[in-house]
Amino acid sequence: MRTSGTLGNFVAISEADIKLLWGRSAGMCSRPGCGVDLTCLPEGKDAYTVGEMAHVIARSIAGPRGRAKGGDDSYANLILLCPTDHRHVDKAPDGEFPIELLHNWKMIHERRIRALGSENKFEKVEELSKAVRTILAKSHAIWNAFGPRSEAATADPNSNMYDIWELRRADTIVPNNRTIINMINANEVLLDQKQMEAFALFCVHAEAYEAHVRSPLDAYPTFPKSFEEAFAYE
Ligand SMILES: [Zn+2]
Repeated sequence: MRTSGTLGNFVAISEADIKLLWGRSAGMCSRPGCGVDLTCLPEGKDAYTVGEMAHVIARSIAGPRGRAKGGDDSYANLILLCPTDHRHVDKAPDGEFPIELLHNWKMIHERRIRALGSENKFEKVEELSKAVRTILAKSHAIWNAFGPRSEAATADPNSNMYDIWELRRADTIVPNNRTIINMINANEVLLDQKQMEAFALFCVHAEAYEAHVRSPLDAYPTFPKSFEEAFAYE
C-alpha cells in the first residue's frame, strides 16, 4: 500500500488491485460508448492520472448504491471511469445506475480489451507486420517517456514518474502485448518458419512480463530482438 505518489492518491486501494483494475480496462473508461483514454496526463511536473476508480457499492450506506454492509476497496467492487461518468453514476437518482449495470459495464469492457486484435484479418504478411510494428512503437514511446531510463525519471529520481511507469506497464504495455499476440494468432497462416519461432519467443516474454508487472520477478525473458527483426519489412 502506498502512502505517497500517484498510486497513493487512491488511498486505501492496494497496489495490486490498482494495477489489476487499470490493466484489465487498459486505462479506458468502462462505460459503453465512452472509452475515454485515461492514461493521458495533464501537463506539468506533478503529473497525475485522470481516471477514477469508482466504488460500485459505496463504502457508506448513505453513499451511491449503499448497502447495510458497506462496499470495500477491492478490485471486485471498483470500476474505472472518467471523471464525467463517475459523477453521473454517483449523482444520478437512486436506481438509475444499479450495481448489476455497473458490473455488466465492467465485464463487457474488460472482455473487449482482452480480445483486442483478434478481429484484425490481413491479406498480406507485410500488413500484419506493419500493424505489429505500430503497436511496438507505441509501447516503446511509453517506455521512453516514463520508463526507468526516461529523461524525467533520471532528472528527478524522487518524481512520481515511477508510479506512472508502474501504471502504464499494466494498462498500456501489457494490453499492447496481448493485442499483438491476438493479432498474430488470428493471422498465423501468413507466417513463415522464422516468424513462427520469433513469435513463440515473444509469447514467452509477454507472459513473463505480465507476471512481472503483477508481482515483480527477479528475472524474466526480455523482449526478443529477433521478434522485431522477423517482422521488419523495410
Ligand atoms: Zn467515460
